[in-house]
Amino acid sequence: MADFLDLTGHVSVVTGGNNGIGLGMARGLAQAGADVAIWGRNTERNEAAKAELEGLGAGTITAHTCDVSQPQQVTDSMAATLAAHGKLDSLIANAGIGGRKGPFHELTLDDFHWVAAVNVDGVVLSFQAAIKQFLEQGNGGSLVAVSSLAGIEGAAGNIHYGATKGAVLAMMRGLASEYGRHGIRTNAILPGWIATDMTEAAQGNDVFTEKVIKRAPIRRWGTPEDFAAAAVYLVGPGAAYTNGQQFVIDGGYSIY
Ligand code: NDP
Repeated sequence: MADFLDLTGHVSVVTGGNNGIGLGMARGLAQAGADVAIWGRNTERNEAAKAELEGLGAGTITAHTCDVSQPQQVTDSMAATLAAHGKLDSLIANAGIGGRKGPFHELTLDDFHWVAAVNVDGVVLSFQAAIKQFLEQGNGGSLVAVSSLAGIEGAAGNIHYGATKGAVLAMMRGLASEYGRHGIRTNAILPGWIATDMTEAAQGNDVFTEKVIKRAPIRRWGTPEDFAAAAVYLVGPGAAYTNGQQFVIDGGYSIY
């Protein structure tokens, strides 16, 4: 394996790593030899993902029950991750939820706070915990935020969700600037329409699916596997000079 693809000895946290896009990225990291700590709320799903990842590479895999919107749970999960792995090299803040859909003028502040608690607070808390550890270790680190095309395009009918994803992009750029001098790189991945549990209802809508496939030149929904190599690249040594960037992975959906 080329050195820039080899993550042997690299310790990475993937929040929401037990399902969907996060699991796709965790699979890539495990296959590249990394030690992976997955954080998610559903302990059963965490354990199933852990067992699967253990079969993919030689690295150590751990799973931690964590709601990333809860400060104490993030603190505890970081402590447990460090106790198990001894250090931290990267954190991918992928955990996220879709917002309540409906006309913007009918959505409530509670609707906004509900989606922001995970999609914004969760990223803030996870990144803060990682940065503290990176600074203590003193040899840099890599942060990756999973935003969304909705963070640039907005999301009609799901405005609150788009707003949280836009906030993550601003945070990513600010962090890239604030912590770059410490060797801490921050980048974002922006998925287009990806077939996961989150988009189950949309996948079941034939008219919508036809629209997605017609607009995306690759002519299919994305899959979690489409994110594996991006995760390996962004956390690894090959991306040593990549900082403050957003990577859209959408089959070309957004080029029009
Ligand atoms: P899934 O619903 O398949 O997975 C979401 C993951 O996040 C699960 O592992 C879930 O685990 C975890 N999660 C949710 N809430 C929390 C929480 N409070 N604390 C910890 N973990 C949590 O969704 P996707 O894989 O599709 O989404 C992953 C990311 O990609 C999200 O940030 C989403 O916004 C983004 N995205 C997805 C797109 C798509 O088309 N699918 C498009 C653009 C962006 P558990 O329930 O066990 O906590």
